[in-house]
Amino acid sequence: MISLDSPIQNMPGIGPKVLEKLHRLKIKKVKDLIFHFPFRYDDFSNIKNIADLAADETATVSAKILNIANKRTWKRQMFITEALLEDKTAPVRAVWFNQPYLADTLKKELWVNLSGKVSCDKFGLCFSNPVFELLGSEPQESDEQTGLHTGGLAAVYPETYGLSSRWLRLKIKILLDNLDDIPDFLPDSTLKDFNLISLAQALRQIHFPKTLTEAEEAKRRLSFQDLFLLRLYAQKEKEKIKSKPAVEVPTDLPLIKKFVSSLPFQLTNSQKIAAWQILGDISKNSPMNRLLEGDVGSGKTVVAAIAALNLISKGYQTAFLAPTEILAIQHFKTLCGLLKNFSADIALLTAGRIYSLKHREIPKKNLLKKISEGEIKLVTGTHALIQKEVEFKNLALVVVDEQHRFGVDQRAALLRNRDPKNPNTSELPEQDIRHKIIVNPRFKNFGYNSDISGRDINDCVIPHLLSMTATPIPRTLALTLYGDLDLSLLKELPKGRKKIITRVVAPANRQKAYDFIENQIKQGRQAFVICPLIEESKAEIMAEVKAAIKEYEKLSKEIFPHLKIGLLHGKLKSKEKECVMKDFKNRKTNILVSTSVVEVGIDIPNASVMMIEGADRFGLAQLHQFRGRVGRAEHQSYCFLFTDSPTKATSSRLKAVAECEDGFKLAEKDLQIRGPGQFLGKEQSGIPDLAMSSLKNPAMIEEVQQAVQAFLEKSKLYDHPLLKTQLASFKQNIHWE
Ligand code: ADP
Ligand code: MG
Repeated sequence: MISLDSPIQNMPGIGPKVLEKLHRLKIKKVKDLIFHFPFRYDDFSNIKNIADLAADETATVSAKILNIANKRTWKRQMFITEALLEDKTAPVRAVWFNQPYLADTLKKELWVNLSGKVSCDKFGLCFSNPVFELLGSEPQESDEQTGLHTGGLAAVYPETYGLSSRWLRLKIKILLDNLDDIPDFLPDSTLKDFNLISLAQALRQIHFPKTLTEAEEAKRRLSFQDLFLLRLYAQKEKEKIKSKPAVEVPTDLPLIKKFVSSLPFQLTNSQKIAAWQILGDISKNSPMNRLLEGDVGSGKTVVAAIAALNLISKGYQTAFLAPTEILAIQHFKTLCGLLKNFSADIALLTAGRIYSLKHREIPKKNLLKKISEGEIKLVTGTHALIQKEVEFKNLALVVVDEQHRFGVDQRAALLRNRDPKNPNTSELPEQDIRHKIIVNPRFKNFGYNSDISGRDINDCVIPHLLSMTATPIPRTLALTLYGDLDLSLLKELPKGRKKIITRVVAPANRQKAYDFIENQIKQGRQAFVICPLIEESKAEIMAEVKAAIKEYEKLSKEIFPHLKIGLLHGKLKSKEKECVMKDFKNRKTNILVSTSVVEVGIDIPNASVMMIEGADRFGLAQLHQFRGRVGRAEHQSYCFLFTDSPTKATSSRLKAVAECEDGFKLAEKDLQIRGPGQFLGKEQSGIPDLAMSSLKNPAMIEEVQQAVQAFLEKSKLYDHPLLKTQLASFKQNIHWE
């Protein structure tokens, strides 16, 4: 008996060679093959006789290959594969461009179904670039019954060399016919309420649909189930956190008032509300899980500072994490400034910089000691803060700025460093950054009655979490991924900010843009020049750095030889970066040429021009972030988007940025254009493809939310053993950031 969990080689007809190929497609078990879904369907229904073909129609024929060969056109450096085919009625030609490998697949004497546009040239009728399906030998009447290639849609799968879609279809067909029971793990009530077909039905329909509607029905059911699991998982994990203790810190109202009145500006209404919500959460004994979303420049930092101050005054520690060293340094300075009258020691801890407000440059060992003894109350830093060696005494709040920007490499490092033996790290779900932070075990029962011996790890105190982001994750997406998180929104920008004038600049107008910048600088302003993104992988960072150096040389030698120009990129040493930023902040440099490292957070109020080279390579949300680097004070500011590849698609995307100043709307647009991957990190998240693409579909997300809600209200997971098992294996496959 073959079951879903049987190894794939238990199927008849799978020898070692085929097995190796299947492994290449990550197919190891029977279930993997059944869940290997097609990405498109070719319509081979309605097969015509070749003799009946007419020019300019789109048609399908079934024919034998009489001859096939590759040619090369010297003039245009192109490969042409030309074939002559024939059915019972007549011959016809077919050509493909630049796919020379086709001649290895489509061999003389084989039968194929061809489908595509028929054109007429001086030699007669010809298919150009048709899609095809290899039939092998001449089709027999009996093939009709297997549904393999006639009278319907043919599923096209991700293939590997030597395993064709037709082969996969044949094997899947056999499996579906012989596996008698594919149990459904979704609750009956969910199927009924949301009008979903059963799993068994969906699997049949996704592989062998009679119509596209059937295929759609199947896709809906299959993505629904993945989103259901995703949401159920997030919800369960969130409940787990909520059930744990946190320190409750009452709000010191007079202190907060004193702080607010010490600020050089008035808080906006949204800032006040957000601060209240956060202080309210912190005064409860279950851990805060709050996302503070606010467009660039909306003033998130000071809101976080209010929360930190309240904790500091009661003797607790706060960790403030930033995705880049430049930003960590900036936060350190900002927080030192904001809190200077409130006598607390504040530290900076990155891979390259160890510093404390009171002790200045001190050896790392000493700083770590002061953190573990609780003398330092606020530590800003990068991922260096979550290394094993850093131990807090009584950490009560973790602030994560631009959490989604934590790099792929950093995330991988965090996961490597996870220590399963440490009780404080094992109790939080993996998508929660707190589980990487090490709190002194003595803090375990802090604030609770002191019967330490009788308590288990589940009682350890968990710090409150405040995530901040200016790249708004569309709310539906956030809910699915993180469960019920609490949300504070900074809806307004501080008063007096002017709209940033954004222009897409055609190559011909480059000089005009330079003249404009020159003029702004004469008026005392400063400008950023951002170099194009060359992807994020290690090898390409160097390419990006090179591009930045080249741009820097061009600007300083040719375009603006009389101006002072700075250069910033990820390969500079910490101190060098700091120096470059300092010179720009102090207006010693007029223009800062930079790679995308300034994307998040950097605050230079005097800068009024943001010029972005290769703007088409960035996402909309990213461009909006860059734009947010200017217009942070009273000066009218400008953003110039340059592109050397002005295609229709890129220019409409860039136009969207030029026309829309609302980061939330741009994020929604970005979600539609570039998909949810950007919100989940560049690395493969392990979320199945179908679910991934349905994350773009707010209506379905909404439905799934209702479904999970209804399920949790009515039922217990342990009454649904199938669902429980499914959830457990789903969990293993997802890689949370
Ligand atoms: P973001 O939300 O992008 O992180 P920041 O916290 O960096 O924004 O704040 C942007 C700038 O606005 C900073 O220079 C900050 O001092 C200033 N700022 C913050 N709140 C206000 C306010 N209510 N009024 C005026 N300026 C403010
Ligand atoms: Mg910020």
